[in-house]
Amino acid sequence: MKSLEVLIFLGPPGSGKGTQAEILTAKLNFSHLSVGDLLRENIKNKTVLGKLAARYVSSGELVPDELIIDLMDSYIMNIKNQKEISGIILDGFPRTINQAIALENKIKQLDVNIKSVLNLDIPDQKILNRLSGRGREDDKPELIKNRLEVYRNQTEPLLEFYNDRSLLDSINGDQSEADVSSSIINAIKAEVA
Ligand code: ADP
Repeated sequence: MKSLEVLIFLGPPGSGKGTQAEILTAKLNFSHLSVGDLLRENIKNKTVLGKLAARYVSSGELVPDELIIDLMDSYIMNIKNQKEISGIILDGFPRTINQAIALENKIKQLDVNIKSVLNLDIPDQKILNRLSGRGREDDKPELIKNRLEVYRNQTEPLLEFYNDRSLLDSINGDQSEADVSSSIINAIKAEVA
């Protein structure tokens, strides 16, 4: 089996994870898993997953771990079978410690390793400005506040989790798109042997 590399993008809503994941995917011949995009597509198509996830996404809460862990599981298995892909960018996964542990267990069984966890750091006020210009259903001011709170409570503990594993790189997300990408590329290179 071939070895796959995983890059994880962490950071609050509006920190630019999706944008940077797109840029990096193209440069690195990686595959991009955006859990949020996948959920919105399932909701739109009224799939079983979509029906289960809809109320969480529309209220800015996290979708239950078991649903998201299954999603990640089948995504990774599918990518493992695509010979031409050299890695995966996980954008929006993990968002809880349980999800991070499930990912660790999954990659232990496969020939996969986490190359780096990139934390896109950005002040709250900038987040509010960015998201209120985006116009997505869950980008209304009250919901943004809720999503930020969910982020602080449930996802931010992952910074310590990955720092303890010496995998965390913090990136200043409050720069131009191009400058954020260069910072990420520098951070990843620094870790390539
Ligand atoms: P943002 O980062 O701007 O919040 P996303 O598109 O990544 O936007 O996520 C949108 C919504 O999808 C979240 O508010 C949440 O309801 C759901 N979601 C995304 N990723 C996860 C995850 N790993 N676990 C649980 N729910 C998730």
